[in-house]
Amino acid sequence: MEYFPYSDFRENQEEFIDLVDSEVSKGKNLVVEASTGFGKTACVLAAILPIAMEKNKKVVYLCRTHKQMDRVIEELKMISAKHNISAVALRGRREMCLSPLVLNHTTDSSTSMYVCRLLRKMKRCNHFNNTREHEDKAYEMEVVFSSRPTFSQEIKDACKAEAFCPYEIAKAVMRNAQVIACSYMYLFQPDIRDGFLEGIGVNLDDIIVIMDEAHNLPDMAIELGSCQVSLSALKSGIREAREHNEESIAQFLELTYKAVNALDAKYSLKVDEEARILPVELLTYYMGGQMPFLPEKNLHTLEEFIGYVVKQGEEMQKEMLKRGKPPRSYVHSCGAFLHNWLTLRSRDDFCYLIQKYRTKMDTESVRLEIVDLDPRNITTQVTDNSFSVVAMSGTLSPLVAYAETIGLKNFTTKAFPSPFQRENIMVLAARGVTTKGNERGLEMYRKIASKAAEVVNSTPKNVGIFAPSYEVLDGVLSAGLKYIIDKPLFVESRAFSSEDNDRLIREFKDHEKHGGGVLLGVLGGRNAEGQDYPGDEMNCVVLLGIPYARPTSRVKAQIDYYSKVFPNRGKYYGYYLPAHRKFNQGAGRAHRMLQDKAAIVFLDYRVLQPFVKNDISEWIKRSMIVVDDRAGVIAERLRSFF
Ligand code: SF4
Repeated sequence: MEYFPYSDFRENQEEFIDLVDSEVSKGKNLVVEASTGFGKTACVLAAILPIAMEKNKKVVYLCRTHKQMDRVIEELKMISAKHNISAVALRGRREMCLSPLVLNHTTDSSTSMYVCRLLRKMKRCNHFNNTREHEDKAYEMEVVFSSRPTFSQEIKDACKAEAFCPYEIAKAVMRNAQVIACSYMYLFQPDIRDGFLEGIGVNLDDIIVIMDEAHNLPDMAIELGSCQVSLSALKSGIREAREHNEESIAQFLELTYKAVNALDAKYSLKVDEEARILPVELLTYYMGGQMPFLPEKNLHTLEEFIGYVVKQGEEMQKEMLKRGKPPRSYVHSCGAFLHNWLTLRSRDDFCYLIQKYRTKMDTESVRLEIVDLDPRNITTQVTDNSFSVVAMSGTLSPLVAYAETIGLKNFTTKAFPSPFQRENIMVLAARGVTTKGNERGLEMYRKIASKAAEVVNSTPKNVGIFAPSYEVLDGVLSAGLKYIIDKPLFVESRAFSSEDNDRLIREFKDHEKHGGGVLLGVLGGRNAEGQDYPGDEMNCVVLLGIPYARPTSRVKAQIDYYSKVFPNRGKYYGYYLPAHRKFNQGAGRAHRMLQDKAAIVFLDYRVLQPFVKNDISEWIKRSMIVVDDRAGVIAERLRSFF
């Protein structure tokens, strides 16, 4: 308790600290559900810091957003008023980097890491060279930042002034730090993890891992374990191979291109449709095709040739860098994908898909995908080998199901009650409306729009309306929502870039000062998760249904696979539970700070069915009032609440 930075404990905080202390000190894992406003960050740090010091472990605090990382450093700054703590928030290499080549020509963490490695090897990064040449000055900087909790921006600002590499300085600070706040990628992305651990000078069993907002881990792990290749990537690969005089690679990719087109013709897919295929369906085309390039390169098997493609792709990346070009090699990415296709072909925890989709240029195209069906392929690499893992979020229930899907072993679970006062929460569940597939139609959308308008027109400031899909979002728009509400409408779009979306959210939030606005978005999307709307930024959140996935090939494959590895729970784990978690996430958007007074309105009667209701967060469920299907009832309830 001596590391707790505040003078008083809120309800249940001491119990939380005792629990973390007793489990983590034994090297056990913990799954904790506690809602926003509980004060999880301060509590978990207060419990873990003394254990880490006694057992000489480092703490790696995984966050989803930069704001959360900064929050960890803020709490540690409070703690360091009493105890010396060395800690640093580490953003991704791309965010820390000052090299124009990385900033202008890479878009993801793996590529930026790869480019950075090449630049350093070829001595072409001035910031890196400068840091090495002015060792003494760099060391002074490291000493200062290692002596206290440090925001990553502090390091970046100091490095800009000296033209040093912020990432190199942060890495040096990290080696001395007791706590490192960083993104999940540093531990869960296998390509990044080894370098990260080497950088901080420890093995996994030397670290205590705290996972904040851990509800996203299963989806994130599936994404990390999956990969894809499109027709346009293959086309670019063919062109690139010819530019580098690699005719055999060009012919091989041409053969692959034809094979994908032939598969497309075989399955006759429409846009947004996908089909599950057997890996051999692609491989057959190689066997049947002419492959003079095998003997020509003295490579005798397909596997050897694909290895050659990957290796030549790496050489091309190096050459592009030498010429000052962005080192994006399609030969390399196509080769890496085909290598996975070949080596994973007999694994039943992966599924193989062909998908037709619409490109950004509004044309139709086709891609092949390898989808990882088991998050444990990625997660257990970390959870099995760390000293202890604490997974926390406001929406993890049912906790055992969560632990099982990420493959956590030797764990304890605990759900803490919400700290929100009941008088600050109103939850209404409307009868008579639903977005269940077979009941959708203009009539139903009109009814939903009219109830949503009752909510908007009876709420003092901002309202968030989250639909289960873009189809439903379009449905309520076509039912005329915009014309029956008394506040301006801000509609999320799939086509928005992140800058467009940030602008939309800024404008929506700003309307809290001007009589309120309405945000219309999609559950599971960027605005229904990860975004906070405290105070008047969202007085009320309206949910228009449960975001069950369309029964696509990958969803069916997921259910089949889970039915095999989690008998009797396959459909629940693979289909219902992910939708119920997104539903809970959306419902919690308006209650972000302890003093927030906000309403949650469910416009889908299915929320009252025990199967769904059981998975709704306890603090929401206990305040739920069922409202009859009569005009004006919702408005009446909300007016009396506000
Ligand atoms: S060494 Fe530093 S500045 Fe240079 S590319 Fe890598 S991260 Fe960027």
